[in-house]
Amino acid sequence: MKCTVCKEDAVIKIPRHNLKLCEEHFKEHIIFQTQRVIKHFNMFKKDESLLLAVSGGKDSLGLWLILKELGFNVKALHIIMPFGEYSEKSLEMVKGCAKKLNEKPLYIEANKYLEIDFFKALKIYKKPICSFCGKIKRYILSTYANRNSYTTIATGHNLDDETAFLLGNVLHWHIEYLNKQGPVLESNQFMPKKVKPLVRITDEEMSFFAKTSEIEYIEEKCPYSRNAKSIFFKNILNEIDAQMPGTKSFFYLQYIKNIKRIFFKESDEKLKGCRICHYQTYNDDTCFLCNIKSKMKRTENGH
Ligand SMILES: [Zn+2]
Ligand SMILES: [Zn+2]
Repeated sequence: MKCTVCKEDAVIKIPRHNLKLCEEHFKEHIIFQTQRVIKHFNMFKKDESLLLAVSGGKDSLGLWLILKELGFNVKALHIIMPFGEYSEKSLEMVKGCAKKLNEKPLYIEANKYLEIDFFKALKIYKKPICSFCGKIKRYILSTYANRNSYTTIATGHNLDDETAFLLGNVLHWHIEYLNKQGPVLESNQFMPKKVKPLVRITDEEMSFFAKTSEIEYIEEKCPYSRNAKSIFFKNILNEIDAQMPGTKSFFYLQYIKNIKRIFFKESDEKLKGCRICHYQTYNDDTCFLCNIKSKMKRTENGH
């Protein structure tokens, strides 16, 4: 197998682009694809201050390297979750990558920043741990970005994450999630803009990118993750893509380009700012977090 670009030995095949690439041209291809997405969706510009959420996984650490390589003004933020060994290892991976990139990321301990105990709050929240964890991370990212004048938040969601989520939401017609899904979520008066520059790149490609870039990353799944459904959808989509290369990417990009615009309208839920912390909330006067906090206070006081 020879590289389509330089005719040296190729190390990876990308059937949907009809490419076989050597290590050097594979890296170039990933960086170029990301750059194309950033431009195409008008995500951010060189002079903007960009906050990147890094978890310690292949996608966010790989994206960190790509954004640095492309010369963007990016600051990485790692949220330290209270998940024991898993959180310690994630932090280690972020530190390792920071050293390699000669960068100083920001570290925020979730419990300290929010002034809560994650597991006690989860009991009051009463929904699955992954949904609570996601909500908390979004809260920290958004409020931190707002307070420190970052205009845009980038995350490492890739094509497989996005298509698995899309398939799940289409199968159940979760209109409210479909409305909010896309490579760009525009800012509103309470939230900065949110972008996903890796939406054209697969899980497999990001693993390979991290390995060939000598980035160490956390490979195991979070011990609390019960998100077997998304893995199930990813596997199904990969089976389809193996038979019909490009289907996964077509499914997602056509949804964004055509279907979403035609069939789904902006949500007409009433958006408000939390009375206490100014984070966005839809129905109540206070946001999910301030609600939990006030319930915790009441239980502590024995009411
Ligand atoms: Zn080559
Ligand atoms: Zn609040």
